[in-house]
Amino acid sequence: MPSPSLSKSADLKTLVRDVPDFPKKGILFKDLTPIWQDADAFRSMVDQLAAPYKNSGAQMVAGIESRGLILGAAMAYELRTGLVPVRKAGKLPWKTVKASYALEYGEATTELHEDAVTPGMKVLIVDDLLATGGTAEAAIALVQKLQGDIIGTVFLAELKFLSGRQRLEKLGVPVFSLLQYD
Ligand code: AMP
Repeated sequence: MPSPSLSKSADLKTLVRDVPDFPKKGILFKDLTPIWQDADAFRSMVDQLAAPYKNSGAQMVAGIESRGLILGAAMAYELRTGLVPVRKAGKLPWKTVKASYALEYGEATTELHEDAVTPGMKVLIVDDLLATGGTAEAAIALVQKLQGDIIGTVFLAELKFLSGRQRLEKLGVPVFSLLQYD
């Protein structure tokens, strides 16, 4: 059982470490590792992220490399689903579908094994943090290429001022996050 003192998302928030100018100047990086290194906090986080999906019929968690895979693996275990990795181009060994998305400078490509999701499969997409939504949008495109049914996108943290939620909801995909930052 999670300790009562860490049962609320407000308490998890106190553990998040703000790191200015990482990985480059002007970015305030939300370091979530202090949550993961605390046994009670980690358990509380997984419980709270998984709770809304307990009776959702979710069949697969697609975890976005790399931090989304950490959360995604724990959620998949809790929800008794499978886990598939969404990875940067060139990392997956088997045949893949690909989607490109814009970064601040240039473009990145992300991949999913072509047999990771079957048509109609109920999929949850998981990442650690929602910023502009570009990364999650690419993951959505991959699952949709395989005709998966995306029942939600799930994030531990959301930077609301970057409006990623609106971007994903415009695609018809529900968004759930635990820790929100204005
Ligand atoms: P975006 O595609 O803009 O939504 O960016 C989301 C991805 O970038 C996630 O995989 C995050 O891990 C990472 N990310 C973006 N901004 C931050 C931030 N301020 N702190 C921590 N991670 C971030």
